[in-house]
Amino acid sequence: MATPIPHFIGGARRDGSGRSAAVFNPATGEQTGAVALADEATVDAAVQAALKAFPAWAASPPLRRARILMKFLAIAEARSDELATVISAEHGKVFSDAKGEIQRGLEVVEFATGIPELLKGEFTENVGTRVDSHSLRQPLGVVAGITPFNFPAMVPMWMFPVALACGNAFVLKPSERDPSAALLIADWLKEAGLPDGVFNVVNGDKQAVDALLAHPNVEAVSFVGSTPIARYVYETATKAGKRAQALGGAKNHMIIMPDADMDQAVDALMGAAYGSAGERCMAISVAVPVGEKTADILIDKLAPKVRALKVGPGTDPEAEMGPLVTAQHRDKVSGYVDLGVDEGAELVVDGRGLSLQGYENGYFVGGTLFDRVTPEMRIYKEEIFGPVLSVVRADNYAEAAKLVNEHEFGNGTAIFTRDGDAAREFAHSIKVGMVGINVPIPVPMAFHSFGGWKASLFGDHHMHGPEGVRFYTRLKTITTRWPTGIRAGAEFVMPTMG
Ligand code: NAD
Repeated sequence: MATPIPHFIGGARRDGSGRSAAVFNPATGEQTGAVALADEATVDAAVQAALKAFPAWAASPPLRRARILMKFLAIAEARSDELATVISAEHGKVFSDAKGEIQRGLEVVEFATGIPELLKGEFTENVGTRVDSHSLRQPLGVVAGITPFNFPAMVPMWMFPVALACGNAFVLKPSERDPSAALLIADWLKEAGLPDGVFNVVNGDKQAVDALLAHPNVEAVSFVGSTPIARYVYETATKAGKRAQALGGAKNHMIIMPDADMDQAVDALMGAAYGSAGERCMAISVAVPVGEKTADILIDKLAPKVRALKVGPGTDPEAEMGPLVTAQHRDKVSGYVDLGVDEGAELVVDGRGLSLQGYENGYFVGGTLFDRVTPEMRIYKEEIFGPVLSVVRADNYAEAAKLVNEHEFGNGTAIFTRDGDAAREFAHSIKVGMVGINVPIPVPMAFHSFGGWKASLFGDHHMHGPEGVRFYTRLKTITTRWPTGIRAGAEFVMPTMG
């Protein structure tokens, strides 16, 4: 039985009335849900609900808004197992990993509860004689968030806690592959005391996204997803006069210098390449060992670990990696492995065709390792978004850094080395938004901001942290002069501003 998955508009769940899409359990291949796909009228209803709720929410003191987020935080922490179960059932990631994404998302809620401090403006006394100036930041109005399948709780939490704390009303359009986490979040926000209409969820696909992008009352759009759609969303939203930030795909490289602690580097690579089955925008998908000897040691140490990866359903506490999100995505990832073989890369570990007993219809691909991948190959250039690690051998540091700098994407990167000078040079000159030094997945904490460079981000603002506050507010500067007439007593001649 497929459970209907509705929208959440104006403080209540609302059934879909038209099209719907199947939602699957990726471990079993069974359809578990049918998610409503919003049309223009449904999107308009959500925006109207947000528009109605906005003035009172924007006028409520930041401290009061923060207190509601504190209550939400307590609810979400207490029931995070429930949310993780929902995520794991629709996304496929292992339960402990789902708990991890909730934790990282809730850290943004924690950050947003400091909003009274974050919204403090600036004041200058005497910008002119007896004239003062102060600046303040005000909310934008109704803002929209469009999110990908791979972090159904964390990526929405990169957006709405800061947007709401700043005084905006929010319409979330989650991924249609795993939409249930967003509805649970909506229920909990309501329970925490959030006024109806301040947070809405419209489920849907391109039609819902286009309706949000075209809606005259949507002031700003935050997007996270693949690069072609990120570019489209950014261009369409900004053309319509909206503020936009659109985070796209990635191909993150990890450089391994000859002086690196190889065991540490290999362990780091295993988690970074194969955690969440490689379906992370900060996953390492390219390892660049410097020097033939480093490369040989790396492959020798990696290959047995990749072969030994424990793949299983998200409910198996022993599993290190779950299935891919859909059958189509599994086929796409397997197709890339076929392509890599055709292109002449050396397939060291082949994860294709993995079948697990009891889960024969699940969308599993085992850990896959390619050696001797070259920059001309499509498996190097394109984002695979699966458990496939490509090793590109470089002769020296300069060649390795050039690979990173010349790649289309610039989301994250890392270097493993014991040499402070090499690490400093890397951090200084590499053309990537998030950089790790002996840290494989350098995701910034909630009080910093998250975002890549090049085709990994369109727009001017990264997400959450101080950049999030700037994105969700507009600046106003007020210059004030008070006439001195009253203090000086009554005047009976015509006043002049001298
Ligand atoms: P996706 O681009 O297919 O979908 C993202 C969102 O866009 C979804 O809500 C979807 O419904 C909507 N969408 C899909 N096709 C559309 C279209 N033609 N027109 C308008 N809207 C459309 O991405 P995905 O497969 O859900 O997620 C994986 C991608 O997200 C990967 O490329 C990954 O790198 C990227 N990602 C990036 C970051 C980052 O921070 N840069 C974080 C997470 C995921």
